[in-house]
Amino acid sequence: MEIVYFFDQDGLAQYSEEHGTVPEQLIVNFSEFTFASKRDTIFVITHTNSEAVSRIVHALRQDPRTGLQPLYTTKTFGKPLDLLVDGSIETEEDIADKSGPILEHLLRLNETVFLEDANDYIRVLALLYSRPNMRLAPHRVWLDEYAYAYSLLEAMLGSAHIVASRLATLCEWQYLHRKNLVDRTTHCPICSSLQINYIDLCPNCKHSDIEEQLFISCNHCHSSEPEEAFLQDDYLFCNNCKRILRQVKEDYDWVQGNFHCRSCGYTFRRAEIQAHCLCCGTVMPIERLLVRQVYNYELTEEGVAAAIAGKISTSFQEHELKIGNQVNPVFFINMINWLLDFCGRHNSEAFTLLGIRINSAANFDNTDVRRGVMDLCDSFVFRLREHIRSADLLSRFDQKTIWLLLPKTGEPEFQVVLKRVKNLQIEHEGLASEKLTFSMVAFHAPDDIVADETSAYLLDRLTREMEEIESD
Ligand SMILES: [Zn+2]
Ligand SMILES: [Zn+2]
Ligand SMILES: [Zn+2]
Repeated sequence: MEIVYFFDQDGLAQYSEEHGTVPEQLIVNFSEFTFASKRDTIFVITHTNSEAVSRIVHALRQDPRTGLQPLYTTKTFGKPLDLLVDGSIETEEDIADKSGPILEHLLRLNETVFLEDANDYIRVLALLYSRPNMRLAPHRVWLDEYAYAYSLLEAMLGSAHIVASRLATLCEWQYLHRKNLVDRTTHCPICSSLQINYIDLCPNCKHSDIEEQLFISCNHCHSSEPEEAFLQDDYLFCNNCKRILRQVKEDYDWVQGNFHCRSCGYTFRRAEIQAHCLCCGTVMPIERLLVRQVYNYELTEEGVAAAIAGKISTSFQEHELKIGNQVNPVFFINMINWLLDFCGRHNSEAFTLLGIRINSAANFDNTDVRRGVMDLCDSFVFRLREHIRSADLLSRFDQKTIWLLLPKTGEPEFQVVLKRVKNLQIEHEGLASEKLTFSMVAFHAPDDIVADETSAYLLDRLTREMEEIESD
């Protein structure tokens, strides 16, 4: 065990040498600190300036060699900085007491977890394993894009987007379990902003200059109409039950009635609600808004085993292949040729080919963004494979282009598959902080067969169609 203290000049001057028996390292200039994969190191930051603390904390947490070790400050700074450390300490006994359980857990982990190139998935699992009392709960931040943040994971993995994608994949692999739903947040599908204004509109002319008209409801027969329908000379009369309505509450009530558009004169029962994004100005129907689900997570037994072993189970990867029906592009192209030929000769045979392309307007110069988008593509394909039938074939020509071959599938059966794919699509759009769009193109045989077209030409033509959809 070793304690590494980080000091500023003032702190070092006040530091007393009469410390305990644990070997110590004193670092004043952070650039002199050497990162090493030593799992029994404890870090203590004594700086009092929160910016300085934040810089050191982020550097230590982000590096897989130091990210999991116990890390303390000597004072508290409030959220979110306090969420990134394991607490604040006052004495050296304090350090030993608090870090003991964490160090004990870290010792049980495979050494590969602490290597410089340790993968994100294992690091998330190892973090939870080493802090059994820590619930992976999001902290409410109210930023423009995310209402909630898993601050410590963001410090370790680099960005909110990578965290969202890693958590989704770990749940799919059943290494993590979604414990409970913390919240649902509604975002602009274009810029992800949470700042949305809702406006009631006239469904006829889309103008917002509308007024609500109250109705009168007869308490004897429950018929409800505008006031004019009840007005007779100077009293209210119900034409339905033929009674005079004298007393409000007793004979009649005012209830919500219709809306009236002052712009076009149209009367309607339900106003159309439109969402205006206050950040990017997009106007859209509310169905297009993105809904993200925010959860607490905990490790599953499989997750614990993977953390200790320091790797994603190979049986999982085998399982993935088995359920995958994934074939290489050459086999796939040959298979389509064979089917085209077969359908040409037997007109009663049908099959459907579905192309899916995942597009992103993300800035791919940014490595984190590119990685995040690619992870979402992987996770989409992974889920897709779970949804296809045993006779269907899937092939992936590049990271973003996926083909599904559905034998013996005509238009009606295809609609069922398409619905599942669209649900997955919505789910993945919801996970992405970068705008993801999906272009899809379907080919039905025998109806769509072009005479003498080979599968290579066909796939080429459909790919171009998807590219056109993308650029629209
Ligand atoms: Zn109108
Ligand atoms: Zn009545
Ligand atoms: Zn927006």
